[in-house]
Amino acid sequence: MSTQIQLAQRGTITPLICEIARRENLEPELIREGVATGVVAIVPGSRPDVRPVAVGENLFGKIYTNLGSSSDRNIVEEELSKAKSAEAKGADVIIDQSTGGELDATRKAIVTTVSIPVGCIPLYQTLLLAETQGQGKYKLEREDFLKVVEKQIAQGVTALGFHASMCKALMNYLDLARRFEKITSRGCSLIADWIVQTGRENPYYEFYDDLLDLLASHNLPITLVSNRTGAIIDGHDDASSYEYDLIGELVIRARERGVSAIVNALGHMPMGMIPKAVQCCKEKTFFAPLGVLGPAVTDLAHGYDHINAAIGSAMAMLAGANYVNAQTRHEHLGLPTTESIIEGVIASRIACKAADNSRYPERALRVERKMDKSRHRTGSCVGDLRLCIDPEGAMDAFSEVIKSESGGCSICGLMCTYRVAPLKTLVEYLPDEE
Ligand code: SF4
Repeated sequence: MSTQIQLAQRGTITPLICEIARRENLEPELIREGVATGVVAIVPGSRPDVRPVAVGENLFGKIYTNLGSSSDRNIVEEELSKAKSAEAKGADVIIDQSTGGELDATRKAIVTTVSIPVGCIPLYQTLLLAETQGQGKYKLEREDFLKVVEKQIAQGVTALGFHASMCKALMNYLDLARRFEKITSRGCSLIADWIVQTGRENPYYEFYDDLLDLLASHNLPITLVSNRTGAIIDGHDDASSYEYDLIGELVIRARERGVSAIVNALGHMPMGMIPKAVQCCKEKTFFAPLGVLGPAVTDLAHGYDHINAAIGSAMAMLAGANYVNAQTRHEHLGLPTTESIIEGVIASRIACKAADNSRYPERALRVERKMDKSRHRTGSCVGDLRLCIDPEGAMDAFSEVIKSESGGCSICGLMCTYRVAPLKTLVEYLPDEE
């Protein structure tokens, strides 16, 4: 069986590519070329009714939402509620990062309920299984790691993430690096512990080709999750740059084996560093689609990290990133609630829209233009709330405020621009149907 990338390289425009092209309002050939060269990756659905998602160059920004249980709280219904809410508010992919309780039950509940692709980090279940089955995580072998990947794929997971770059070479580099937070990622810290305790190489790095063959046999992409920086003081540093070199090699090896690669990177950093960090990562990873967590632009936004991340995401997207993590106000504090997941998705969608309006104005500004016209037609800044990123949230907010005499916005009262301004606007000359 040929994979998406192999078919695209042979010039085949598949039904999947046509579907993505229709949704993105782009020519199928452009998508095919992107898949063939690796700058676009498609995360397929596990069922015909699950909407596939494409990330990468020329495509609108996409959003993935992390959720999942931990050993401190693990209620399947709660995680399912978060997944359903994230989907309803516009998340493109759900990543179940569960590390506690009934992992299989949680994953199955999410996969069988939502109609968007679901992802996972197989490492967590691999380590937990080894402990619960009495084997001990440091005794795990190649087959143990691959078996869990296979099992999760069979359950319907199509976006799998691996901390493959956290190898001995990176550990040595980090050991000498001048960093406040040497290892930020949960998965990377688990891998680093495994390397230190066993003296062996990161299994996802050592058996990377086997992992790729497994993913290729299911026609799935790979997400390469980086360590990232976890302190603003560290920002984008030499160790990040070194890790992107390692990830770049993994991206090339993936493409050679017919697997599309998505890179998940960047960390906490001052805003001014974001364009350079994105450029560095993109160049060193051969322009693979780039997903970002944040980046956080301050370490002091606890309770408001959805705003913090949205600022960083918008900057990163404008600089060339393609995929953002919907961080919540509970980031750095604890497991998110359903409400904070919703806020996080909306904040990320605003970040994506802000960047897309600038990157792809021809396609992205169409709906903005409709809103601008509706404001003038209705004589109020309120406009047509159905066009908003979150119509429901917009209508809720509108229902809370005092209305003007005409039933619209009350901010300026009799000094409302729409009542006072004497000049005709462009909108008045545009045809209604535009
Ligand atoms: S009252 Fe002020 S804010 Fe409200 S619609 Fe008029 S100009 Fe806009």
